[in-house]
Amino acid sequence: MIDLHTHTNFSDGTDTPAQLINKAMANGITTLAITDHDSIGGWEEAKMALRPGLSLVLGAEISCQTVDGISVHILGLLFDPNFNQLMQTLEQTRENRYSRMERIIKRINEAGIEITMSDVLEQLADGATLGRPHLADALVKKGVVKNRDEAFTQMLHNNSKYYIPHYSPLPEEAIKLIKQAGGVAVIAHPMASHRGRVISSQTFGSIINSGLDGIEVEHRDHTPDEKKELMNLAIEFDLAMTGSSDYHGNGKLNVLGEYTTKNDQWEKLESKANARRVVAI
Ligand code: AMP
Ligand code: ZN
Ligand code: FE
Ligand code: FE
Repeated sequence: MIDLHTHTNFSDGTDTPAQLINKAMANGITTLAITDHDSIGGWEEAKMALRPGLSLVLGAEISCQTVDGISVHILGLLFDPNFNQLMQTLEQTRENRYSRMERIIKRINEAGIEITMSDVLEQLADGATLGRPHLADALVKKGVVKNRDEAFTQMLHNNSKYYIPHYSPLPEEAIKLIKQAGGVAVIAHPMASHRGRVISSQTFGSIINSGLDGIEVEHRDHTPDEKKELMNLAIEFDLAMTGSSDYHGNGKLNVLGEYTTKNDQWEKLESKANARRVVAI
């Protein structure tokens, strides 16, 4: 089983990379990609924890924003981590997430809810990418909401009055950097409409034209019709079709391997990287 989109506690997942690897193996996964938000911080620990029987794909889920302000996530897989321009872009995003969080907290405080930056940072593992899920965890700890999901549906969703975006590259820029770093680019959950506005077909076209290699078709946030539409796009533009869990540990209901990528689609994707970078022992 091939699962190409998972998170660890180097972003908003709750498992360490080693725990994730152990769970993946216990769940019958044979190829696993680790794709933390805007970070490759978990790569070293993941490589150390690797055991025979699992092929590891190192990547990152890059938070992007279109010119019209719509959030898009691009999965970069199999890129060279020594390509500085990409690392600098990720670092800029990670850094900007701090001032963004302070501004979101200010709005929440103005609504009469007491929460501080240090409450939020308490929820964050060392070196991890800060995000709204950590704010959600802090709100749970304060007793404001029951769990992450309630925090998002009631307060932290993209259309909320508390929502503020952070700096992010354009999806076209992120794809260009991933490709320059020798990796492959897959658009994550492109039709997850319940999260907020979805990109127009014009923007989708521009993203495809900038070198996209694959589309995440099978994902729990897509309806059957959305999957069909995405599959047709993948066929039309000869892109790989992936399926993945977007596992976050206890942070979300998503179960490891709940959606997977077919072997031939993975081979198609992997062959587009400029070097053979799957890690296995
Ligand atoms: P941010 O990157 O700070 O804008 O936060 C967005 C992240 O929050 C997404 O990448 C998801 O992983 C997570 N998220 C969104 N909705 C939910 C939810 N309902 N429950 C848990 N996590 C969520
Ligand atoms: Zn996440
Ligand atoms: Fe995502
Ligand atoms: Fe994700």
